Amino acid sequence: MSPSFSATIIKKTQLTPTVMLIGFRADPPLIFTAGQHIVLSIPIGATFMDRPFSLASPPSKSEYELLVKLMSGGVASTFFETAEIGDRIHFSGPHGNFHIDPNHHAVRLIASSTGIAPFRAILPALLDSQKSPHAVTLVSIPSIGEPNLLSEEFEALTSRYNHFRYIPVTDFGAYLDTLAIIPEEDIYLCGGPNFLHDIKTALLVKGADLDQIHYEEFK
Ligand SMILES: Cc1cc2nc3c(=O)[nH]c(=O)nc-3n(C[C@H](O)[C@H](O)[C@H](O)COP(=O)(O)OP(=O)(O)OC[C@H]3O[C@@H](n4cnc5c(N)ncnc54)[C@H](O)[C@@H]3O)c2cc1C
Repeated sequence: MSPSFSATIIKKTQLTPTVMLIGFRADPPLIFTAGQHIVLSIPIGATFMDRPFSLASPPSKSEYELLVKLMSGGVASTFFETAEIGDRIHFSGPHGNFHIDPNHHAVRLIASSTGIAPFRAILPALLDSQKSPHAVTLVSIPSIGEPNLLSEEFEALTSRYNHFRYIPVTDFGAYLDTLAIIPEEDIYLCGGPNFLHDIKTALLVKGADLDQIHYEEFK
């Protein structure tokens, strides 16, 4: 069983109309592997409801971050919309086993909206660690009518790492139409069920091998 933690909210930033970045500090600190998630216990009256959230900050940082998609009337959404700096949160973790295979080839990471969270945690070590670097491509699909999340941050990485490419998609349908499969590329996906269905279908139709595809589903 994963241990339980209490933490203090130290940052609330509205990134887009429907996505909020939440920063928090935990004591004792949470030790995790990039790609893992926590399960928040959200207080609802006298009881609690569990909601999983991927850690969006790398394990090397002592302050943790989440990217929260705000859904009207949602339990976690309402909690974070009304939460204030200094409020306490409670969670268990780390959970899950979503990670990049250390023996990877070239890697393509495709995220829908807040599905970019685990990739944001994974990228720093992934880009730094490779002695003879394989290409790493991050594809960001925004929510309809919204900008891509944290684009400036990912753009900045492209000037630091020659082997990193950032593709902020504006038209998901057009991206699916032009999707090309690179043999031996490892493809990692993260997002909601509809996105995963559409992208996996497109990848397989274009000839991707099932073994190439790895994913985390935000259900
Ligand atoms: C491993 C994992 C990692 C995840 N990581 C992230 C992450 O990093 N970022 C992120 O944004 N999400 C993540 N999720 C999804 C997240 O856990 C929540 O499910 C999501 O954010 C919605 O939470 P909520 O409590 O705000 O909404 P919910 O309370 O779950 O409600 C969702 C929507 O359904 C509606 N609804 C609820 N109940 C009913 C009902 N009975 N009838 C009709 N409508 C209803 C609500 O009004 C709301 O609009 C992750 C999920 C998993 C499994």
